[in-house]
Amino acid sequence: MAIVVTHVCWRCGAPQGSAPRAWVRCERCDVLVAFDFQTWLESEDHAAWLARHGAQVAEWDAYTRDVAAADRAVAAGEHATAEGHLRRACARLFDLTPHVFPPEVHVDHERREAHLAYAVWWQRMQRLDPELRALAADLRANQARMDLRDPWPTIERSIALVAKQIERGERLEPPPDPDGLPMPARVRVAQSFLLSAYLHLLDPDRRLEALRALYGAARVVASVPHDDADGETDARAPDDALGLYFDFACPRCGLVTLTARGATEVTCVGCHHRRPFRDEDLRLGGVAFGCAACGAPLAIDATDLVTECTFCGAAQRRAARTGNVERAFARSVAATHALGGPAEEVVQGVVARPEQRDALVLAGLARQALWFAKLVSPRRFAGILRASLGERWRDEAVIARLVEGIRREGGAVEDAIELVRTAASSAPR
Ligand SMILES: [Zn+2]
Ligand SMILES: [Zn+2]
Ligand SMILES: [Zn+2]
Repeated sequence: MAIVVTHVCWRCGAPQGSAPRAWVRCERCDVLVAFDFQTWLESEDHAAWLARHGAQVAEWDAYTRDVAAADRAVAAGEHATAEGHLRRACARLFDLTPHVFPPEVHVDHERREAHLAYAVWWQRMQRLDPELRALAADLRANQARMDLRDPWPTIERSIALVAKQIERGERLEPPPDPDGLPMPARVRVAQSFLLSAYLHLLDPDRRLEALRALYGAARVVASVPHDDADGETDARAPDDALGLYFDFACPRCGLVTLTARGATEVTCVGCHHRRPFRDEDLRLGGVAFGCAACGAPLAIDATDLVTECTFCGAAQRRAARTGNVERAFARSVAATHALGGPAEEVVQGVVARPEQRDALVLAGLARQALWFAKLVSPRRFAGILRASLGERWRDEAVIARLVEGIRREGGAVEDAIELVRTAASSAPR
């Protein structure tokens, strides 16, 4: 299953045309409609930000000092001084976290000032208004409770808290919205920012549910694998096209290894077979779906992320990411610092004779259970077990050997064993 989203203007109802930008604007009436984190992650702006991010430590320090000075001034009742510190702090954020603001703030002086005034007002009120202060504390505490194995309760609550914050702010008469949004649209854009920032942590079914709740069921379609030009059904589009990790299936021992999406090489953690990353490792197969704006049958080709409807012009983007920007950055860092870099070609690991394979696969699964015990859901790990072990993925004797292997490796064994046992007892996908 792949997920395809069509953003529709809250004011005029027009579907978004042309290639999507991270900050989604209506082509017809120019209002801000949504934020799409996946588009940001794939953008040149993200690449530029990664390149300068390391050099911004001093700027972050200065930001922290400005915020602390503002807190002291508020405590001392010196509101004009506090405002000055907050203004400097917020202005620094335009460069430190550029994706948090629409790109116009970098080119349009008036828009920049409007965003600055709005951001400073929020910062000030979150210190002065008891209700906003409590909501901000609640949001921080909630985010701190995030369990990566099951992040949805946290994300869902944060999405609700953001709405409460904006609704409370509205009653305190904020400065004009810097993007000209009425309050309900501002809530939607803020919620869309939050959800899309965490989408990659959710299980695919939950992603679909959450996106449909926010954008409306008709605007978010779950697509089926689509027939290639050669008439073969392409069933490769995986459920994790958006997740933090993709599956690397080792051609030598058969173990499936969770691999970070921006990796420059793939390594089997069973037999240590490795080679450079290839685009097809992402398994972004073609997807077919009905246009969410006009219903026409559409397709997004393998490895593509976007298509434009030939009938109504609506741009539709699959909820997926390639990690290409992070990968290019990792390669450039490796080249600059003359690091080893990824394997130039295939590096054969332990030669796996058929009778050794089981031991290598189980050792690789044991390591992954230890590394990912608190990072992936049991459901995600069930997929790894099933892809690595085939029909034996819930066989008690096999699981018992895997648990033994985890104990032999040592470390946080209890969490790892719990992950394996919960995964092996889960319903097959
Ligand atoms: Zn519009
Ligand atoms: Zn292997
Ligand atoms: Zn259409």
